[in-house]
Amino acid sequence: MICVVIGRTRHKMVQIEIQEAAKRGAGMIEVRLDFLAKAPDFARLLEDKPCALVATVRRQPDGGRWTGNEEARRMLLRQAVVAGFDWVDLETDVADDIRRYKDVKRIVSYHNLQEVPADLEKVYARMCNQDPDVVKLAVTATRPSDNLRLLDLLKNPAKPTVALCMGDLGAPSRVLAGKYGAPFTYAAFNKERGIAPGLISFDELMRVYRYEEVNADTAVYGVVGDPVAQSLGPLVHNTAFRKLGIDAVYVPFRVPRGDLEAFLINFARIPVRGYSITIPHKEAAIAAAKQRQPAVTLVQAANTLVHGPDGFTAYNTDFDAARESVLANLPHLSGGELGGLKGRTVLLLGAGGAARAVAHALHDTGALVTIANRTPDKAQRLAEEVGCRYLPWEDRHRVLCELLVNCTSIGMHPNLDEMPVHVSMLKSDLTVFDTVYNPEHTLLIKEAREHGCQVLTGVDMFVRQAAMQFQLFTGKEAPVDTMRKAVKRALSPVTLRDDE
Ligand code: NAP
Repeated sequence: MICVVIGRTRHKMVQIEIQEAAKRGAGMIEVRLDFLAKAPDFARLLEDKPCALVATVRRQPDGGRWTGNEEARRMLLRQAVVAGFDWVDLETDVADDIRRYKDVKRIVSYHNLQEVPADLEKVYARMCNQDPDVVKLAVTATRPSDNLRLLDLLKNPAKPTVALCMGDLGAPSRVLAGKYGAPFTYAAFNKERGIAPGLISFDELMRVYRYEEVNADTAVYGVVGDPVAQSLGPLVHNTAFRKLGIDAVYVPFRVPRGDLEAFLINFARIPVRGYSITIPHKEAAIAAAKQRQPAVTLVQAANTLVHGPDGFTAYNTDFDAARESVLANLPHLSGGELGGLKGRTVLLLGAGGAARAVAHALHDTGALVTIANRTPDKAQRLAEEVGCRYLPWEDRHRVLCELLVNCTSIGMHPNLDEMPVHVSMLKSDLTVFDTVYNPEHTLLIKEAREHGCQVLTGVDMFVRQAAMQFQLFTGKEAPVDTMRKAVKRALSPVTLRDDE
């Protein structure tokens, strides 16, 4: 079950959101009374109550907005209980002072906005003796393994327990709570209201993660990177699981640089069956794997880890996706897939992770690749490794080429008004492939189109590499069209509802 948290300053908005959340499937709703600008009018808040309501008045040190004194806060909690709320949230330090009232249920809670305290288990044991119907622990993850510490508490709880990590390191504990038997998890009706750090929106938890379907048998996959909050991986993979009716969930794991190995060992106990790997772990992922696909050795980077009986195998689906995307979408250059890009001149901008995969892939199809990168040493190193030419960044406009490939992050959100070359380079006989996919239609793509160039956006490559990962994860053919639609919808300025 999901407990939807509503925090608004106006009663009217609280009333509207209570009805809307219930209509969308909320099992219970927490009303954050500390958000209200005026003294709560309980009759209004409880009018037409569509599901169980929780009364909470959170203090500032616990992440709330309550500015009054403690005596007034406790009075408000007692009034809420008498007025007809079904549940009341009482912090562990006040729970002994506010006694049970009739059949109103008690959440005894503990919040820590700094860390997971060393004595968490002791705190938990004490809370279990405070007459709770549910014990709630909300602490701040400072490392990925904190998620496991909280999820462990859910395994054999002395009382029904909700235990989660706040912050973006804590997303796994929120999504996987149902797998470990938590009676409910929390979600925000309005994520942008800043109710609690890392609180996932109700819509996302329902529609992307399908939280209500996550159970003990649900297989777990995920994306590992830093940052990962903006990753489209959860959307695209969870959409594919849903489409094929696979009991699996794909979770964002923020893992800081240097922590990959320890993370993989720790999370083996969930277990996590496969990972998408993104910046900054693409090289470290190779060391973590027992086996590697030839493209990984060639590119010296992995974007996928799949767990099998002999440990992890590393793959690089960017390499295959780049090649296939160009061959399938630019037949005027490839002469059909069999022809490859033999003898075609390509200027490739960038020498980072994407550039490595694309440079090797295009060179592999016979293209004559020249690399230009802002940091010249990196261009030189990559060119020597691939066996192609390189140029100083300043000379990129002097190259005569048939295909221009942007593998820099120039033009990527939020720098929408930047492009990696001058418009004078965009002649109608040039083909432009921009690997940037957020936004899909970068300034480079728009200008190239306007100047009569053939164009290819990064979305096709992105969807292909995700589809290949999906097949490696599940052994099933990926629902590519569904995945593409989900990505395009997420990237479109006007996002439509997904009613598939
Ligand atoms: P990365 O490893 O961080 O590399 C970034 C590249 O961009 C480097 O070559 C960097 O040059 C260059 N760069 C950044 N800002 C620049 C600026 N202001 N002027 C000139 N050069 C600049 O990142 P990545 O993983 O390769 O990703 C690069 C882009 O590819 C991103 O937009 C990403 O979304 C896209 N991508 C697309 C796909 C897909 O499937 N379509 C897959 C992966 C990546 P320096 O070396 O000088 O820093």
